Amino acid sequence: MPASINVKTTARNQMVDITSLVQKEISQAGVLEGVCLVYVPHTTAGITINEGADPSVCSDIIDLLNKLVPPDAGYRHLEGNADSHIKASLTGSSVSVMIENGRLLLGIWQKIFFCEFDGPRNRRVYVKI
Ligand code: ZN
Repeated sequence: MPASINVKTTARNQMVDITSLVQKEISQAGVLEGVCLVYVPHTTAGITINEGADPSVCSDIIDLLNKLVPPDAGYRHLEGNADSHIKASLTGSSVSVMIENGRLLLGIWQKIFFCEFDGPRNRRVYVKI
């Protein structure tokens, strides 16, 4: 099994910075160069890389996703979380990041965000190095 990270979310829609947790897995593996695949095995959560310096960026992303994909728009899926599934597909279920000198090769403002769209829940993220 790949390494996994547990993420406990606290809201229906939430972006959680998991960059340091992913970096910890790389450091524990002792890998200096390679690629890190970060994968979300859920149908109502996603993952994305974006700015971590200003939290308004995440708020803006969530606000716009809520406008684009309203919770009640006559969906066929009767579980009541069709919007969550659609948002998960829009953000995607994995990111790949290069590793250089044992560190994630991210831009200075970039962070890896777990994207919750049907929380609060206990979630899992797989990390394969
Ligand atoms: Zn569903």
